[in-house]
Amino acid sequence: MPASSSTVQVPPGGARAFVVKKGNFFRVIDVQGGQVADLVAFKLDDMSERLDQSRTRINNWKYRISVGDPVYSNMNNWMMTILEDKVGIHDLTFPGCSSFAYEKILKVGKKNGCIENLAEALNKEGNNLKTFEIPAPFSLFMDVEYDLRSNVPIIKPAASKAGDFVGMRAEMDCLVAVSSCADDVTDCNHGKCKPLEIKLLE
Ligand SMILES: [Zn+2]
Repeated sequence: MPASSSTVQVPPGGARAFVVKKGNFFRVIDVQGGQVADLVAFKLDDMSERLDQSRTRINNWKYRISVGDPVYSNMNNWMMTILEDKVGIHDLTFPGCSSFAYEKILKVGKKNGCIENLAEALNKEGNNLKTFEIPAPFSLFMDVEYDLRSNVPIIKPAASKAGDFVGMRAEMDCLVAVSSCADDVTDCNHGKCKPLEIKLLE
């Protein structure tokens, strides 16, 4: 049994940041189902080291990672390892939704996205990060299909069911942030943002 546990509630379309020390475990739970969780991580004592989407993809030589696979930093160090995965469908290619994407790509006007929300959550923990310093996230439960013939990525509704989760162990002291994806425009979150729950076990 773990020595202690705590819970972080992530509101629909919002983000929260929390510290996970090396060797500790946390679980990201999709409480209602069908909700993408965008996750970023920074090395706690050196914020220049951070999760790296493309290194994670290529160092694992996989488009989709799952149980046993490490998440890499921009310095090719192991930041965390996936120990549990109820879904197996996650994205490592999208940059996270943002005010740019809503305004310029989806053309629905100005609206804050996961990148702005993650920056705000991380800055509440005493940082001063600009949105361009937020790495492209590891998007839990995000289901993207790559149609190479038409050369178009297709965002499908998140495959997670109520109560599904991914559990990860930190391999270095990390400041982690998770957003309940703010996208209520595409099918990504089935058209509605929903809450997430983080369980931290020490
Ligand atoms: Zn998003």
